Amino acid sequence: MSRDTPIVRVDGIKKTFGSAVALRELNLDIAEGEFVTFLGPSGCGKSTTLRIMGGFERPDTGRILLEGADVTRLPPDRRNVNMVFQDYALFPHMTVRQNMAFGLELKGMGRPAIDARLDELMAFLELSDYGDRYPGQLSGGQRQRVALARALAPDPALLLLDEPLGALDAKLRGQVQQELKSIQRRTDKTFVFVTHDQDEALTMSDRIVVMNAGSVEQDGTPEELYYHPANRFVAQFVGETNLISGEVKGQDGEEVLIDWYGAALRGHRRPDDPHPDGMATASIRLERVGLHREKPETANAIQARVVGKTFLGSRMMMDLLVEQAAGATLKAYVDTATGNAVGDAPVWIGWDAESMAVLRD
Ligand code: ADP
Ligand code: MG
Repeated sequence: MSRDTPIVRVDGIKKTFGSAVALRELNLDIAEGEFVTFLGPSGCGKSTTLRIMGGFERPDTGRILLEGADVTRLPPDRRNVNMVFQDYALFPHMTVRQNMAFGLELKGMGRPAIDARLDELMAFLELSDYGDRYPGQLSGGQRQRVALARALAPDPALLLLDEPLGALDAKLRGQVQQELKSIQRRTDKTFVFVTHDQDEALTMSDRIVVMNAGSVEQDGTPEELYYHPANRFVAQFVGETNLISGEVKGQDGEEVLIDWYGAALRGHRRPDDPHPDGMATASIRLERVGLHREKPETANAIQARVVGKTFLGSRMMMDLLVEQAAGATLKAYVDTATGNAVGDAPVWIGWDAESMAVLRD
């Protein structure tokens, strides 16, 4: 395998179940050591993609290449891949150590080698004190770690994780997210992770593949998806946003001039996107909209009235009515002191061109 060979290549995969199309046509490469997340609503094809990579499902057409070799027709146990499921699928009648040893025994590894590997992994994952416990005697977070340890034991080239944190409560979930990310960094393993939770995807991933109805909507870093969403679906699914639509009046490099009910706004398109014309939609994140007493110097500025305030603890969300724009309302996050100080008088709102992402469609 050359240095540039991806760990996984998904090459033209399609999958239907009866008349239901689960995957339309999927093409993507995953590089060694990446933490890639498939993010999308329930039913969009995330698990099907993972199951096809793992060998639990056959695609209708297309190929899966693992470390350069076509494994499309190989069963799971003949692929150098392992999977962690949401319900952990630990054997309840086996101890932690026996659970972890299971895959190694199947591979025919000898006892001394198994013991050495388990000792090493249990120390690494801080499970050494739990070797003789049964899954029922562990907390949710510990069970999750055992499931991960079991999947890592045979040293797979690729680890597939299908909503592995779904069963944990919110607080524990945040903690296990950090833990999992740190384990991925320290082992330098390639993780392909599935979640429908956008915060989880943003926190953990090097790269996010946003899926919808069996297709990829966008594939990029968390920052790219958040600040330069390709389309409405991504803009609304990843984080909260303001969407405005107006007529394209011109361009200057990647800057796009948009007329929004008579206001000349400056936005920014992704470098690879074609220049938009006709009507275009743009996304402005709530924390990028600033509130001002006087007209601000930002590329975009318009008058508004505060018609609602929501206290959110560390910040406030303001509902801003823009009379000029046919009564459109925008939302903005401001710090609580600013939010409290604002009264009924008209305010100026402003944002720079870089903060206004003109969408592809
Ligand atoms: P996700 O994991 O994103 O929620 P899935 O990959 O599980 O989505 O499912 C994608 C689509 O394929 C859904 O419409 C689902 O109902 C359908 N599907 C998945 N597995 C099967 C199956 N074994 N039999 C029939 N339909 C299936
Ligand atoms: Mg699923």
